[in-house]
Amino acid sequence: MPKNKPAKYQVKIDIQCGACGTLTHLRGEEFPKFCPCCGASLERYCLRCQKKAEMFFEEWWPEEDECVRTYGPAKRCSRCNAQLEEPVVGPGDVQ
Ligand SMILES: [Zn+2]
Ligand SMILES: [Zn+2]
Repeated sequence: MPKNKPAKYQVKIDIQCGACGTLTHLRGEEFPKFCPCCGASLERYCLRCQKKAEMFFEEWWPEEDECVRTYGPAKRCSRCNAQLEEPVVGPGDVQ
């Protein structure tokens, strides 16, 4: 932890959907698997590693003692760096 952070601070977690951009504010509950707005999956799996990729987050400090983390679906696998695509499943899809 960097030295310039206050000893006591609040962390707020937001999750941003990669498909529609809706922000979901978490209040201590578990991370949702799907966007409550459009139903898009917020989890990404790497096809190469066959593992779930961790969501990435950006951190900012609106107040000195308040930290906001905005999580979004991983765009790249943290292990093999493969690009992770949005799982496309829709009524109009033809395989
Ligand atoms: Zn969404
Ligand atoms: Zn991978």
